[in-house]
Amino acid sequence: MNKPVPVPTDNSRPFWDGLREHEVRIQQCDECQHWTFYPRRHCPQCFSDQLTWKTIAGTGTLYSYTLSRVPTAQEFADEVPQKLAVVQLDEGPRLNSTLKFLDEADIEIGMRLKPVFEQRQDMVLLQFTGADTPIPETENVPEEAQPSEPEASDAPKKQIPCNDIDALRSLISEEFGPWSNVVEVTQELIDQFAELSGDDYWIHTDVEKAKKQSPFGGTIAQGALVQVLQSRFHIPQDYEVTGFNNMVNYGSDKLRFPSPVPAGAKIHMRSRVKAVEASASGTRITLEMHTHVVGQERPSVINDIVVQYM
Ligand SMILES: [Zn+2]
Repeated sequence: MNKPVPVPTDNSRPFWDGLREHEVRIQQCDECQHWTFYPRRHCPQCFSDQLTWKTIAGTGTLYSYTLSRVPTAQEFADEVPQKLAVVQLDEGPRLNSTLKFLDEADIEIGMRLKPVFEQRQDMVLLQFTGADTPIPETENVPEEAQPSEPEASDAPKKQIPCNDIDALRSLISEEFGPWSNVVEVTQELIDQFAELSGDDYWIHTDVEKAKKQSPFGGTIAQGALVQVLQSRFHIPQDYEVTGFNNMVNYGSDKLRFPSPVPAGAKIHMRSRVKAVEASASGTRITLEMHTHVVGQERPSVINDIVVQYM
């Protein structure tokens, strides 16, 4: 059963982005140094709007907890008893979370805790376990890094100034980088996109008719939907472009939909740096992005996007 996942807002997105990189980030006030959580626009202590996101260790103590023997929602029935915790971070703020890998008897108010990063669908959630509790090998490794290079996310990122054309060109490669997280293209998503875009052709939305008449044996996603879902992918990169004021999507050099994505398929993406050019208005980097149904050789979307740094 698919468990509900949080939906990032503009205010909270840096927190969720941090978790994807297995970092805990919370806000600190530049004026009075007060640490704050949940994410917000103003310091609750001095009302300054100068809050800065900072990476912290994520360690803390167990402030309070409850063992819920009735699931808080049907989707969590497999976790009963749910070990629901209020964790006090070492910086001060408290947050609601769940304890993992601990027996009931080992849970004690005031115990030291460390973070556990749990991949759930396309999100990473922050949970906690005892400071000395071993974390199973399969946890705490970014999902996308598991097959080949589990250590990749720990390596410091190479920082490349956006005006260093030679250094940027050294990134150009025929080889594609690692895979992103996985996103499921549900019929619900296809229906929502049909409503939004007006592309409600039966091959996308009429499940019964498509079962009988579609050459694909069922409904398929709109190519444009699969294209825009690229925003939901996060690819672990070992470099970071720095020193720009603005980064804009300049457009696409090439867009193809070589194979369909059936409703319910899981997709992921990988990319390579294809070209780097200096123009009067800034540096343009062309990324060749390929979206595939998981396990399929042939891509479903090929998109050469051009990003301009100014
Ligand atoms: Zn303040």
